[in-house]
Amino acid sequence: MFVAGNWAESHTGASFDVVNPATGERIDSVPKGDREDVRSAVDDSRTAFKKWSETPAIERSRTLFKAAEIVRANLEELARTLTIEQGKPIGEARGEIGSFANSCEYYAGLIGRERGAQTPFSTGEGFFIVTKRPIGVVGAILPWNFPVSLMGWKVAPGLAAGNTFVVKPASSTPLTDLKVAELMVKAGLPPGALNVVTGPGAVVGEELLDNPKVSKIAFTGETATGRRIMEGSAKYIKRLTLELGGSDPMIVCDDADIDLAVEGAAWGRYRNAGQSCTSVKRLFLFKSIADTFTKKLTATVKTIHVGNGLTPGTHMGPIHNQPQREKVEEMVEDAKSRDAKVLVGGERPKAKELQKGLYYEPTLLQHVDYDAMMAKEECFGPALPIFVVNDLEEAIERANDTIYGLGSSVWTKDIERAYHAAEMIEAGTTWVNSPPIARAEVPFGGFKQSGFGRELGLEGLDHYYETKSIQVLEYGKGKKWKFPI
Ligand code: NAD
Repeated sequence: MFVAGNWAESHTGASFDVVNPATGERIDSVPKGDREDVRSAVDDSRTAFKKWSETPAIERSRTLFKAAEIVRANLEELARTLTIEQGKPIGEARGEIGSFANSCEYYAGLIGRERGAQTPFSTGEGFFIVTKRPIGVVGAILPWNFPVSLMGWKVAPGLAAGNTFVVKPASSTPLTDLKVAELMVKAGLPPGALNVVTGPGAVVGEELLDNPKVSKIAFTGETATGRRIMEGSAKYIKRLTLELGGSDPMIVCDDADIDLAVEGAAWGRYRNAGQSCTSVKRLFLFKSIADTFTKKLTATVKTIHVGNGLTPGTHMGPIHNQPQREKVEEMVEDAKSRDAKVLVGGERPKAKELQKGLYYEPTLLQHVDYDAMMAKEECFGPALPIFVVNDLEEAIERANDTIYGLGSSVWTKDIERAYHAAEMIEAGTTWVNSPPIARAEVPFGGFKQSGFGRELGLEGLDHYYETKSIQVLEYGKGKKWKFPI
């Protein structure tokens, strides 16, 4: 783990292995932190908070710009570590490290440049000022699918605003986050401002919830875990940002650019082996274009090359862990048992060199029942169900028939249709003629059980502040405060 600017063991000396999902080989081991390790990191973070929150915004900004520069200078090594521990192709890993640096730069550019206002009371006797204060120590709890960029979505705005962090990475992807934290301290963050404690969610994560000195929890992960985070945060009324699961619909209208939409569907579903919160998880095609679209998409999916993320030419790496692969297999089998037709994939690849990794073929299914698991639940892997709809109203109704509301997309050349769909789909983001891409300047988050709060954009910064109002009564304008008797 990395605490107060130093590499540290767990105080018990216990550790656990990190394994490469592409080969099954052990890569490294990291300390198995327990509650005492977390308490000590939180205390260090609290001490650092005093100094960092009083550091002028311009210096916090410079430190974040410097951090981005150092991370970019180490991009190749970081990307390689990320591919080895997570499984994604090296090109995607490079993009993810770049996205972390980009988040730092975006918030470094914002901080110290905000403007406030002094507003008169409506009754005229004075004015008020709204100021922003950092919250304190933040516990950032991360998933394994984008370990680095999602750390950036939290620590970049949070540090810019003057908060300090104890980060708990997913147990299977701690290595790149640890390296990035070390580089951030090299860039000039005070020791203790960014700590990374490795260990199980049920211990390290739970202590972050139980510890009264942690003022906010920023969580990304499954909806079921998010529920537990809410319960655990209730005792001390912690501030919360929850980025949870999704089952994103992609709607392709009859006037869409079919070739573009086919590419978008393939990239949107199979990137990161389908393990993105905003992966395209349900595809809705207008009836009149369904056959053409399905043929073209089938041909495209067949060209996706599965392999080790470090091997040049690989489009899709392994699934990250065995339970996840089994879950995808269960969903595909369930759809098949309800008469779905597998157009591509539907099984583990047969190539000899892939047998030790957690691979699964990119899979495309049609005639999927609306009651199938993959229509109802989040399918977090490379399997895409196709549904055929008569019109936009049916597509929107089906798209909204889920507990989730994270991302969505609509593909059409008609601006009125696009805007109508964007208004009606219950999701935090609707992309128009684009697969899901997060951008530093655009707020991101969920409706319904996909969570609440927003990351990225100006809103992302605001979630790392307490809002303080100062009300000033102008001299001579005050009333006499007599009881109304
Ligand atoms: P997960 O919920 O299993 O784990 C997330 C983190 O929570 C891990 O660090 C884990 O150790 C920790 N944790 C587990 N139990 C805990 C507890 N009791 N107390 C505190 N912490 C605990 O999620 P995952 O499998 O790592 O990630 C995949 C999920 O994340 C998917 O559902 C995906 O859609 C979602 N996700 C959402 C977004 C978003 O922005 N909305 C982004 C990426 C991933």
